[in-house]
Amino acid sequence: MHERNEAGATYGWGVVFSDIALSFLQDADPAFFSKFTAHHQRCDHMEVIHRGVAVPLRGNHFSRTSRIGLLRVLQDACAEAGVEIRYGSRVNDPAELPDADLIVAADGVNSEVRTRLAEHFKPSFEVRRNKFAWYGTHQLFHPVSLIFRETEYGVFIAHSYQYSHELSTFLVEVDPDTWHRAGLDTATEEESRASARRCLPMTSAAIRCSAIARTGSRPAWCRTSTGRTARSYCSAMRCAACISRWAREPHGHAGRHRAVRRGLRTPRRCAGRVSGVEDSRRDASAKFQDAARRSLDWYESVDRKMKLDPVALPMTTCCAPAA
Ligand SMILES: Cc1cc2nc3c(=O)[nH]c(=O)nc-3n(C[C@H](O)[C@H](O)[C@H](O)COP(=O)(O)OP(=O)(O)OC[C@H]3O[C@@H](n4cnc5c(N)ncnc54)[C@H](O)[C@@H]3O)c2cc1C
Repeated sequence: MHERNEAGATYGWGVVFSDIALSFLQDADPAFFSKFTAHHQRCDHMEVIHRGVAVPLRGNHFSRTSRIGLLRVLQDACAEAGVEIRYGSRVNDPAELPDADLIVAADGVNSEVRTRLAEHFKPSFEVRRNKFAWYGTHQLFHPVSLIFRETEYGVFIAHSYQYSHELSTFLVEVDPDTWHRAGLDTATEEESRASARRCLPMTSAAIRCSAIARTGSRPAWCRTSTGRTARSYCSAMRCAACISRWAREPHGHAGRHRAVRRGLRTPRRCAGRVSGVEDSRRDASAKFQDAARRSLDWYESVDRKMKLDPVALPMTTCCAPAA
């Protein structure tokens, strides 16, 4: 495995997984699931805080961990499986790699491999509207907490959750008009944090520097982009992109991974096997992406829902409590 970064390099604070997301991992590999979740912070409900009133939403189980902890667990799993990770090894072109049965490009949303082989993968991207800044705070939000606050500039949203004994992620989201009106387009990192504290006053004063900004190479504020590929396999290079689609394979399809491995021995069979997995995953993958898009739409139009009372607001989300 080639990784351009050094071991232990990551950005940001914590990550959160819903139980539904983790259930795929549990079904596919129960032993790894136990190791993966062993040190996670867990809570069986979330809270939506609107007009200062916290409404608990039961039945929403979330599991949280630090980004660095997540990396360590994955690196240990590689070591156990005998996978050698070459850190500081950037791959610009799969043609640079030695001959292989299958090359899997899991190089993220800005994948260079996908760009280079764009005529095969046919990727398309959409950059979403809202702006995000990612902070960490010592205030511990035990349930995953969504905080909405109407300010003189517009609506400020915080996505916050405890992920270790000492720290919570504190992600601030605003629409671009609010962002401009609040002067965040020209704000320094310190001024952005001061705005977050002022506009979301239920947070402690201890919002720490955005880890994204601390890397020096990324701005404090970023936008989400979503990407799709028309195809996931380039037979000329024997290269497959978007492993995350496969990684979410439900248990009923686990056998197909073995089929891919068996099929790798000849190029023609390799292409057929990978296409088979791709076809079997297309509908499920589209459903995930549609659900993600609906969720992004909800946040991008939240200003129109602010008139709802604290109980009614969460009823319009996809995480509304089960009847
Ligand atoms: C602010 C923020 C918060 C998020 N929070 C959550 C969350 O709470 N829960 C959640 O499930 N998801 C979250 N996500 C989304 C999650 O981080 C991504 O969905 C996930 O990381 C995608 O995994 P990936 O393997 O496709 O890409 P990545 O995680 O980006 O991994 C790609 C890897 O490839 C390496 N690489 C890239 N190019 C090359 C190259 N040319 N040569 C060698 N190596 C290369 C990179 O260094 C990196 O290690 C969040 C994302 C952001 C930005």
